[in-house]
Amino acid sequence: SKPTPNHFIRSIAKNDLANGKHDYIYTRFPPEPNGYLHLGHAKSICLNFGLAEDLGGKCNLRFDDTNPEKESMEFVESIRDTVQWLGFEWDQLCFASDYYERLYQFALELVDKGLAYVDELTPDEMREYRGTLTEPGKNSPHRDRPADENRALFERMRAGEFNEGDYTLRAKIDMSSPNMVMRDPILYRVRYAHHYRAGDAWCIYPMYDFTHCISDALEGITHSLCTLEFQDNRELYDWILANITLEENLIGERGKLMPKQIEFGRSNLEYTLASKRKLIQLVTEGHVNGWDDPRLTTLVGLRRRGYTPQSIRDFCAEIGVTKKDATIEMTVLENAIRHDLEATAKRVFGVLNPLKLIITNYPEGQSETFTVKNHPKDDSMGTREIPFGREIYIDQDDFMLDPPSKFFRLGPGREVRLRYGYAVTCNEVITDDDGNVIELHCTYDPLTAKGQTPDGRKIKGIIHWVSAAHAVDAEVRVYDRLFKEPNPGAADDFVALLNPDSLHVYPDAKLEPSIKDADPETRFQFERVGYFCFDALDHTADKVIMNRTVSLRDTWAK
Ligand code: ATP
Ligand code: MG
Ligand code: MG
Repeated sequence: SKPTPNHFIRSIAKNDLANGKHDYIYTRFPPEPNGYLHLGHAKSICLNFGLAEDLGGKCNLRFDDTNPEKESMEFVESIRDTVQWLGFEWDQLCFASDYYERLYQFALELVDKGLAYVDELTPDEMREYRGTLTEPGKNSPHRDRPADENRALFERMRAGEFNEGDYTLRAKIDMSSPNMVMRDPILYRVRYAHHYRAGDAWCIYPMYDFTHCISDALEGITHSLCTLEFQDNRELYDWILANITLEENLIGERGKLMPKQIEFGRSNLEYTLASKRKLIQLVTEGHVNGWDDPRLTTLVGLRRRGYTPQSIRDFCAEIGVTKKDATIEMTVLENAIRHDLEATAKRVFGVLNPLKLIITNYPEGQSETFTVKNHPKDDSMGTREIPFGREIYIDQDDFMLDPPSKFFRLGPGREVRLRYGYAVTCNEVITDDDGNVIELHCTYDPLTAKGQTPDGRKIKGIIHWVSAAHAVDAEVRVYDRLFKEPNPGAADDFVALLNPDSLHVYPDAKLEPSIKDADPETRFQFERVGYFCFDALDHTADKVIMNRTVSLRDTWAK
């Protein structure tokens, strides 16, 4: 694990502690439960929870659930699991929907103070009245409605006396503000929709801008971190908090000061989508097999693919936190998991594309075992026994009928070393009627056991293998990038940019028997091949199904 990276928000928070502005740091991660979390959210999780952890503060997990149509408990549960899986603990588990009554009371306070009014402009009229960046807006004809009338109308909105769209509650700020967000933003709208937590208790729902700042203040959040697109909303955030009266008992001793919003840049990974709306489309249209498809950069997908929490935290530390949106190359993510698995994965032999190799001078019925290390550099990971016999499988890629001189693996008449075992020479190639190589007949040199070559001859190639009599059959799934283009999110039709070869299944893979006894969470390096894990969904004791997490090296051709 790497040292905590410094960044501008950490500097601000440390300063606030050093100069006594705050006695503690309190942050929150505020997802909307309208989809599964993706890698972009991991950045926000690591930032919010990481900052609190680092500076001895606390962080809440808050569901920002004010859009009844799109939210569900399924998403809440997955988000909760994912934050825990990443290794973070929240202080309070909060829901904006728990604040509906308080939010309503704060809205009434603004109404009574003449700082909010009930409007009846249609959406089109409202757009027209709003003006543009270069033209000031116009006041709504209903803007100067007396406070008591506004209160009565707002209460009737809440009581369900109006249709959707007939009335809204708007803040009364400044229709000619250069900041468009400040031109009398909507605070509440009428919605007859069932809410997954609040049920049918409400038919008016608060807008994000009204909800977020008050939720932060109620929870005593000190630093409210959000992405850059909310920069203009900061003025409204401060305006709302400046104009409501927070009860001391709601915020306790923490709430001496109002929270401060600080924006940071989004990070988007090349060749992936990071928008819940677009991810939903991939899932519902069946372009991928669910939210946890290992080709997706949802966090459940990455988890199923074999990414470790540590690798994702390291990735987030690596990309850092800045004031600019950033596009991150895929290799940054892949190197994070390679780095972790290189140190922690158990080494085994796995042959994805098997080719039978018969050692004609090895006695029939005989076998032996080699004791080998589970990790070349970490003796604490122990050793295992690899059985060896007369018939083995090698990978088809390790044999060529007519190899070029630089090919140091097996070919007719050539000699190669079986890793940890003997040297074998290929004497005969058996082909089927179509000329496909189906079997190799070789002889071994008994004097070359365990890497020895008593006569000192050079054997350049070393290949992996699995004993045919002991092999475990497996289906191995190898994934490639889901999209052919680096920025699919920018295209109108991102579905057209899907990589048709993003999944390659090896149905007849042969694995060494030690994987049978492994814990299902174990991560493996198939030597010379890549990093693999059991598929959490489809793998069973009877049918071994594994996913390739990542190749050993970056081999993707641009
Ligand atoms: P989406 O567009 O996928 O729905 P969102 O921002 O609307 O994303 P939220 O559930 O509101 O999703 O996100 C929770 C937090 O995660 C927010 O503070 C948001 O700013 C942050 N976040 C989302 N995507 C990214 C990203 N790509 N990079 C950094 N932070 C992100
Ligand atoms: Mg959002
Ligand atoms: Mg969104």
